[in-house]
Amino acid sequence: MAQKFIDIRGVTYQPEGEGVMAPSYAQQHLPVREQTKAVGHAVRATYLYAGMADVLAQTGDKSLQPALDSIWNNIVDTRMHITGGLGAIHGIEGFGPEYVLPNKDAYNETCAAVGNVMFNYRMFLTKKDARYVDVAEVALYNNVLAGVNLDGNKFFYVNPLEADARNAFNQGLKGRSPWFGTACCPSNIARLIPQIPGMMYAHTDNDIYCTFYAGTSTVVPLSDGKVTIKQTTNYPFDESVRFEIKPEQSKQKFAMHFRIPTWAGKQFVPGKLYHYLNDKPAEWKVLLNGKEVSVKPHKGFVTIERAWKSGDLVELQLPMLVRYNKAISQVEADIDRVCITRGPLVYCAESVDNVAMPASYVVNPSEDISITKGAGALKYIDFITMPAHSVQDKDVHSLTLLPYYAWDNRGDDAMIVWLSENDSLANASIPKISEYISDIKATHTFDRDDVYAMLTNGYPANSFDTSIPRWTSWPQKGEEQIVEFILKRPIALQSFSVYWYDDGGGVQVPKSWSLEYKQNGEWKTFPIYVTDEYRMLKDQYNMVHPGKDITTEGLRLRIVPLPHAAVGILSVQIEEVK
Ligand SMILES: [Zn+2]
Repeated sequence: MAQKFIDIRGVTYQPEGEGVMAPSYAQQHLPVREQTKAVGHAVRATYLYAGMADVLAQTGDKSLQPALDSIWNNIVDTRMHITGGLGAIHGIEGFGPEYVLPNKDAYNETCAAVGNVMFNYRMFLTKKDARYVDVAEVALYNNVLAGVNLDGNKFFYVNPLEADARNAFNQGLKGRSPWFGTACCPSNIARLIPQIPGMMYAHTDNDIYCTFYAGTSTVVPLSDGKVTIKQTTNYPFDESVRFEIKPEQSKQKFAMHFRIPTWAGKQFVPGKLYHYLNDKPAEWKVLLNGKEVSVKPHKGFVTIERAWKSGDLVELQLPMLVRYNKAISQVEADIDRVCITRGPLVYCAESVDNVAMPASYVVNPSEDISITKGAGALKYIDFITMPAHSVQDKDVHSLTLLPYYAWDNRGDDAMIVWLSENDSLANASIPKISEYISDIKATHTFDRDDVYAMLTNGYPANSFDTSIPRWTSWPQKGEEQIVEFILKRPIALQSFSVYWYDDGGGVQVPKSWSLEYKQNGEWKTFPIYVTDEYRMLKDQYNMVHPGKDITTEGLRLRIVPLPHAAVGILSVQIEEVK
């Protein structure tokens, strides 16, 4: 049946239209064997490519190979974030143009990273080449694991590489969610993680391939007898991976293949997109019963073939060096930026560990780096501290980073993966709150409040933050309010966000609200994006996007309060299409 679906995809039916009806959205623009590039919805795409690899493996249909190879190269050379995330673009939840890999606005659905693991693992099975496992590992340890918190009960659908603690990027929330209306991502994680033990060893008649590294025991049925393998390691926080090998037959002859990851060489992940600033490879070693063996990798694996005896020990030593990564210059979002990795892990800076805003730091590549263990729920995780300065706070001289997969476990903080290399870029990365608004008018403002407060409060602690000024309509309980924002110039609007004030008594989040925009001097109904809602969530920004391109001279909020309360706003944000 899989073969049938692959044979008719893009042949018997081609949708006509744009967006979700575009021929490329579900990869129906061409017969699959004629496809050369990764396009359209990223989850649909990776499932299709995984299915093509399965059909190739099961039927030997080599006519699928050129398309698979070309699509794989297109992904790793032009369309993959360093976290292994795919589908950078919102709206179609899919692949954007080549090299368009935004950080703050990255979509990178958790399911697409799961699909990246599934596609690459199948490519490995068809080719016995470790570079596919290397891509799967980076996607698994970074984007997939970031999709779930350390407690295992809150999820990211969307996985940006930068967050400012304001933008509600995760389907209306600025942090993780226990569930989603479309709950594909939590269930996809629940499916993939238990499958990983089954992917750790692959075998043919007399060859065993060791792919992912983790503490585990297994029995591999080779044609000459079973082989019991016990793997002991704390990878990737441990530089040593130990294998104890017990063949069923004495002096059983077979080959063991151990993966030497791409990250232990000159770059973090296969493909042309990313390279280490200092490309000196790590000095990895392979020891057999305590003695170093001279081996050279072939297709990413080193091989020990011999008559094995029970209790033979193989140890892999993989130095976990802290590396500075650069993207190729075609990736505009990463120009003059570096990303820190260690082993297979991408690191990020989160505001909870640092005095200044993460985006305000400028790193100074140096050897003066320290590794420390975290605390509490993060106690098994290695943190990195390195020299850096902040353009926001001149007294700061070091920056603390943690693995990307572990961010947003201590509150919904600001976070950044690609750090600035110069002061001007760091300055430009700090949000300017009142960049667009020249004046604000409200139908009523309480005597002790300030309507302009909503321009200067970038980061309220919560909706009942009384340490900062606010606007409220107190004491006009139950009376509709209009708040009008006059813009400095007409802008192409990307989004509008409002952070409600709520003291739980006289001033509360409203019953409802809506937006209007001004065009050619006329107020019009805001064409709210189909999946957006006018939300009344506390303790965060409530963001709406226009469903079509609009240029506006002003914005007007119509707020309907609860009957027994007035309404209040701590902050608003406006973003322009960039
Ligand atoms: Zn999903």
